[in-house]
Amino acid sequence: MRPIELMPTLELSLRTLWERWLGHLPEVAAHPSTMPDRSPEEVLFRLVARLAESYPFGHPQYAAQMLKPPHPIAWAAYALAMVINPNNHALDGGPATTYLEREAIGELARLTGWETFLGHLTGGGTVANLEALFVSRELHPDRPVAVGENAHYTHRRMAHLLGLSVRPIAMNAQGGMDLDALEDMLRRERIGTVVATLGTTGMGALDPLEEIVPLARRYGARVHVDGAYGGYFALLARGRVPEVEPGAFRALSEVDSFVVDPHKHGLQPYGCGAVLFRDPAVGRFYRHDSPYTYFTSSELHLGEVSLECSRAGAAAAALWATLQAFPLEPDRGMGPILSACLRAARDFYRALERSEHLRPVLAPQLDIVLFGLRGKSRASELASAHEQLFRSAARIDPPVYVGLYRVPVRWLRHHWPDIIPDQAETTVLRAVFMRPEQEAWTDRILDGLEAAIQG
Ligand SMILES: *Cc1c(COP(=O)(O)O)cnc(C)c1O
Repeated sequence: MRPIELMPTLELSLRTLWERWLGHLPEVAAHPSTMPDRSPEEVLFRLVARLAESYPFGHPQYAAQMLKPPHPIAWAAYALAMVINPNNHALDGGPATTYLEREAIGELARLTGWETFLGHLTGGGTVANLEALFVSRELHPDRPVAVGENAHYTHRRMAHLLGLSVRPIAMNAQGGMDLDALEDMLRRERIGTVVATLGTTGMGALDPLEEIVPLARRYGARVHVDGAYGGYFALLARGRVPEVEPGAFRALSEVDSFVVDPHKHGLQPYGCGAVLFRDPAVGRFYRHDSPYTYFTSSELHLGEVSLECSRAGAAAAALWATLQAFPLEPDRGMGPILSACLRAARDFYRALERSEHLRPVLAPQLDIVLFGLRGKSRASELASAHEQLFRSAARIDPPVYVGLYRVPVRWLRHHWPDIIPDQAETTVLRAVFMRPEQEAWTDRILDGLEAAIQG
């Protein structure tokens, strides 16, 4: 579905909303000061010219970064709610959308399998993880957090902000957290929280959560899961979907906190992350003493359990509407979209195995594939050849967009032992299959890359 196909429905909904929302109040003439300096048509056409300079994120030939346009339902719901522009800080500012947020969070909580929870939406995965680390620090102010070297850099950044020390844990050959390294660390130091990632940003690797949880518990550490990227795939683990290994996802039911970004795999516009805690009592750590708000209801206001104050009620409306249209079920709604992405990655991986010029690094666990050129021996040579291919593929007709990813050469040699380590790091190619359409497109992406190689 394209946004344009929803336009007539959106227009009708906007009119109806306007009438129901303000129709019972006296009409207001526009204030002369609100007349724009330039005609809206002119401004918007100028904007179109600027926006069209973007990479083609919505097209299957674009496999470079974790970017995908939101579903038109999210876009239309956001636009509708933004007419009102509610603020989910408090029920005073966002009465309707606070309830939509609670319902949407209740749906996201089903990804974990917890019976109790406290959670809310955030501006994104960074703030969501910040809140999880903040709660870790409040519970264990003097204990460091253990973070995989494969984890998103946001954890180091936020730990620094919070004054928490970080203990890095090595990565295993599969790109997940190395259990021996974790146990060594737990034995050596009193770790407060182990941060595990389900779906690393670099290669979509799953930390072995089913083993991390019992290990952390044995040493009295909490477990936080960063599922900003891969969290949605937990819904597939509930069904009999052959494309996903359920083990790590099933262990989510035992962790202490969980982050998922609806603006990554959840078809939402940017500005939509979420954090959930299994123990609702952690809400006590948020100091909330607003002299301005919290008057309309004695119910809990979301601002009382969130570090951010103003938050877009429109983001909650968009997520709620999307979850109505695409419920978090393995065999309908969101499930088939995610399964198609996994199949696309697997097909691309298999095609790379057969390719004359390219080879995969390792089998994908989710929908991200690392790969590179055959026939290069030195790590330095490999990096420059990949950078060149990355650029030339984007210049062929039609262009193919893939990404680059920097990896330690000692890690890459688990998979490509023939690489000569003449430098510590090298660069491989990375393709992200977040669009279900890409399932039917992997051959064309590979053909494009082969054409770029042959010049
Ligand atoms: C994207 C990502 C983040 C950061 O989230 P933002 O929404 O970009 O702030 C954190 N962790 C992981 C695993 C991610 O993929």
